[in-house]
Amino acid sequence: FNELDAAKKHVGEDWDAVRGLLGGKGANLAEMVRIGLPVPDGFTISTEACNTYLASGSILPEGLWDQVLAALAQIEASTGKSFGGSENPLLLSCRSGAKFSMPGMMDTVLNIGLNDQTVAAMIHQTEDPRFVYDAYRRLIQMFGSVVMGIDDEPFEEVISTARRTVGVENDSELTAENWQQVAEQFKAIYRRHTTHDFPEDPYKQLQKATEAVFKSWNGKRAVDYRTAAGISHDLGTAVSVVTMVFGNMGDDCATGVAMTRNGSTGEPKLEGDYLTNAQGEDVVAGIRMTRDLAELKTEMPSVYDEFERIAKLLEDHYRDMQDMEFTIEKGKLWMLQTRDGKRTAQAAVRIAVDMVEEGLIDRRTAVLRVSPDQVDFFLHPQFDTSAAIAGKLLTRGLNVSPGAAVGQVAFDADMAESWANNEGKAVIMVRPETKPDDVHGMLAARGILTSRGGRTSHAALVARQFGKPAVVGASAIRIDLTNRLMTVANRTIHEGEWISIDGTAGIVYEGQLETMVPDIKDPWLIKLLTWADEFRKLGVWANADYPRDAKRAVEYGAEGIGLCRSEHMFFETDRLPHFQRMIMADYPVERKEALAALLPFQREDFVGLFRVMAGKPVIIRLIDPPLHEFLPDLMELMSELADLKIRLKHAPDMAAIDTLLTEIREKEQLRKQAQRLREANPMLGTRGVRLGIYIPELTTMQVRAIFEAACRVAKEGIEVHPEVMIPLTSHVNELIRQRAVLENEARTVMKEKGVEIAYKFGTMIELPRAALTADEIARHAEFFSFGTNDLTQTTFGISRDDAEAGFLIEYMESGILPANPFATLDRDGVGQLIDMAVKKGRSTQPGLECGICGEHGGDPKSIALCHQLGLTYVSCSPFRVPIARLAAAHAAL
Ligand code: ADP
Ligand code: MG
Ligand code: MG
Repeated sequence: FNELDAAKKHVGEDWDAVRGLLGGKGANLAEMVRIGLPVPDGFTISTEACNTYLASGSILPEGLWDQVLAALAQIEASTGKSFGGSENPLLLSCRSGAKFSMPGMMDTVLNIGLNDQTVAAMIHQTEDPRFVYDAYRRLIQMFGSVVMGIDDEPFEEVISTARRTVGVENDSELTAENWQQVAEQFKAIYRRHTTHDFPEDPYKQLQKATEAVFKSWNGKRAVDYRTAAGISHDLGTAVSVVTMVFGNMGDDCATGVAMTRNGSTGEPKLEGDYLTNAQGEDVVAGIRMTRDLAELKTEMPSVYDEFERIAKLLEDHYRDMQDMEFTIEKGKLWMLQTRDGKRTAQAAVRIAVDMVEEGLIDRRTAVLRVSPDQVDFFLHPQFDTSAAIAGKLLTRGLNVSPGAAVGQVAFDADMAESWANNEGKAVIMVRPETKPDDVHGMLAARGILTSRGGRTSHAALVARQFGKPAVVGASAIRIDLTNRLMTVANRTIHEGEWISIDGTAGIVYEGQLETMVPDIKDPWLIKLLTWADEFRKLGVWANADYPRDAKRAVEYGAEGIGLCRSEHMFFETDRLPHFQRMIMADYPVERKEALAALLPFQREDFVGLFRVMAGKPVIIRLIDPPLHEFLPDLMELMSELADLKIRLKHAPDMAAIDTLLTEIREKEQLRKQAQRLREANPMLGTRGVRLGIYIPELTTMQVRAIFEAACRVAKEGIEVHPEVMIPLTSHVNELIRQRAVLENEARTVMKEKGVEIAYKFGTMIELPRAALTADEIARHAEFFSFGTNDLTQTTFGISRDDAEAGFLIEYMESGILPANPFATLDRDGVGQLIDMAVKKGRSTQPGLECGICGEHGGDPKSIALCHQLGLTYVSCSPFRVPIARLAAAHAAL
């Protein structure tokens, strides 16, 4: 493994490129050799060789084999062993290793070089025939399965038959003779399946194994994994050829795996598992109970000390948590692999922060090591780790949408919906796969489980879209829709039984597991986010309508309110009647009365908001939705009216008739009004600024409420920064007209109260025309807020209320659209409009405050775009504020 210099000469000093050439495994083996760690002799065949081999239709590149032979000769010289030799035979492993680790996805063959002759030599040399025959049968099986594609089953059957005939429980109790017979029977299986003999020629074994490893790059498992993990398919795998060392030559031998820190919690503590007298794959295969690495300390103290020292050294060297494989042969420690360890979100955060404090990495690196999606983890319910371990694992699948969900199994969407909505049950919807007409069931369910499908399947997309925990592609599950049950291995679960799914890890459990909401107050997370704040340029604000949401937002680090939807308050039961009265009013006085009744409610809402936000900007958007949304549904009204008329017919007396008549009159009026306000395209109808122009008393009342509240809070000694936002402007004249009226009212209130408040008037940019004429609009606006939900809807001409349950999902599945434009900002279309509006706006109003308050404000990819477009801030739901803080830092780094 002294090929680092050559590799660097070929691809440059960049470690990433070296890993690309030698694979992660090969590059790290060479690096470990370079820094003087005990690694068995070996060499790596590059990914370029693999790619040439695959591209040429399975022909080894010219000259490759000569290089392999030369490298082998070097190993023979340095180890004093000979490949295929009859005295001190050299055995090799042939190991796959791509640039990015794909655990268990590709193949490795151990013990290459054994044949009848070397077996005899090894027995003579080790005086341990049991060990040698065991190694031999492993080679035949691994070679058979990896190179020739023979199933494991016939091999496993031979071993279990052997155990039965001998009458023992464990493989370790089988004798040398037993293993010798097993090896013979394995050869017979090999012959039966391939019609030729197991190759005795060690060079042929090595060559075949190398080619098989190359080919495993395109094996189905590996391809699926790469597609799911977003790893490119053209990287190829390297092949590392490593001198075998043996953990199974007696009780002074062992093999194991270890991590320098805990992969679940991040606790800085060396942890691992090992087996005495065993070979590498036994540890992961779970055939024998492994032992805690801590026991090695008492069993082989000096080896443990050395390993501990090496682990620390590797971590310091790579400046990241390491996941290592080692083998101890007759008291001598050998390192077989090291790589950056996989970890949970919680561990990622803690490790990054701890490493800064230990001086291993800087803050910038720490911030970049945690992804915004990992922060998301802290905001979803999770299973208590101990509960999860104690729980009964049913099966695994793909972790496509994070969070934990517990519920009763329902096998179709209608059942899921009816159980959830009518009976208040917690439901997990289980399907082979989902289709657009399952969406109603998915929405009603707590979580989703499918036996088929991948990361971009319908189920995965919809689940992520709606924040439902989901595990998909759990292929071990057999769903029997006729009998309404599912089976996993030998377990049967009927419809209505409880299961628990972990969408963060992709695990399905039987029964009801305890969930917990992970703490956003996690001290490591808090620290990391504070560091993120030092790097980001974008402000992070929150969308909040009520003081309690605002409070949470501030706790999570929001620096302002980017959107308070002022009409949400009107929907509350004590206010709705007044609001309806306002809509129904025939005369200005009536309307005035209704508005006067609403004023104190609105004022109180804003007072609360200003107090919580103390000195931070608060953007309040004036009424936006079409008025019919505040009236009862027309169809409902009709049927109520019909009902009342029947009751009128059967009324017992005059008094009853009187009350019924009044009720009918009132309902009839509501119906007329609802009918009158009905629009064919309400989202393009009388809403936003158009409402303010149509009923100026309404928005004037809102502005009065805002400024009365602001004056009151200012008098309490709390700083206030109200920003009044006018929605849905398309023409500058709308803004000019509306602003004049409103600003006049604002001045009047401030004069009445004798308080001067620093305020702003601004508008939303959510229609293409507003973006196109932003320079004009900016002359009359002190801020812009991009309402990207509407802007996406109007730019694409796609109704977001209908499309997401319909063709949009098919568009994403078939690749017509790369992503859901309502979830991730469409850079080329909508993004261009934003870019233009920011530039035009700032051309007439330098320093114009520009933010985004659509759903996209909490999406990391969209946040990166907002950073590039030079926005002042993003505003998102309080729950996404921590994610946005980190995403904004990543965008700036
Ligand atoms: P994977 O990438 O699936 O872990 P590896 O190539 O690392 O595959 O090898 C599989 C197992 O065989 C591991 O436990 C590894 O430690 C062990 N192994 C590989 N090469 C050798 C060797 N030369 N001597 C001893 N054990 C080995
Ligand atoms: Mg390995
Ligand atoms: Mg809007």
